[in-house]
Amino acid sequence: MMRQLVIVVMIVIANKNLKRRENYRKPVIAGNWKMFKTRDEALFFILQVSEAMPSSKDVETIVFAQAPLMRCLIKRQGLNLKIGAQNLFYEDEGAFTGEISGPLLKSYKVEYVLIGHSERRAYFYETDEIVNKKIQAALRNTLRPIVCVGERLEERENNLTEKVLERQIKGAFEGVKAIDMKNIIIAYEPVWAIGTGKTATAEMADDACGFIRNEIEKLYGKLIAEEIRIQYGGSVKPENIEELLSKENIDGALIGGASLDPDKFIAMANAAVK
Ligand code: PEP
Repeated sequence: MMRQLVIVVMIVIANKNLKRRENYRKPVIAGNWKMFKTRDEALFFILQVSEAMPSSKDVETIVFAQAPLMRCLIKRQGLNLKIGAQNLFYEDEGAFTGEISGPLLKSYKVEYVLIGHSERRAYFYETDEIVNKKIQAALRNTLRPIVCVGERLEERENNLTEKVLERQIKGAFEGVKAIDMKNIIIAYEPVWAIGTGKTATAEMADDACGFIRNEIEKLYGKLIAEEIRIQYGGSVKPENIEELLSKENIDGALIGGASLDPDKFIAMANAAVK
């Protein structure tokens, strides 16, 4: 009798562990350096943080740097830190002066590329259609996109957040195959929280990430929706990251300003180790 009870308990524990592993989404902490840091400053940062990054078994950490820095940073990135690109063009080659091609990034062994950041949408007129073409270009070149979506302040104030997110998600993933979704991360970044010091509350961020997950489920089904990683971005810093990451639908952070400081970046990467 006792033996049977022990076996039942062991089966229950094993099932629970299996379930936990099935639902496990490895956190991804990414720094968006925007148009900051010279070559020397960037190298100094990498030198300071590389050794202090948590194991890539527990957390994925990425720094998105300006394109000319790719080559020298990738050579020194270390085992637990990846260097990503902030942008790519949707054609693979041609007369597009100043643009960055997917094949070039690939030749530098870049793995991740940011697509649809609100600054690119606002200052470089990137529409949902362009975002979609860029995602296709990234996937064609076996790059992994972090796709940014998020509402502007007036849209939130007019209760349009979900409408905007729905439009951005549908537009971004038009024609993207289910099999490619495993290579995609989504970053929910409310525009009003970027670089402003105003963070969405953890509940607001979790609700929006949950809504996005739901939209992905409508497009691709439950399994893909449960597996896709969704980050929050918008004035994340060491003081608020733990609360944000404790939420069910938030699988990491995309960090601008605070990622420029090596000590803060180390602290935030380590906060993601559960
Ligand atoms: C960003 O650049 O994506 C961002 C979220 O910036 P910040 O953390 O400075 O708000």
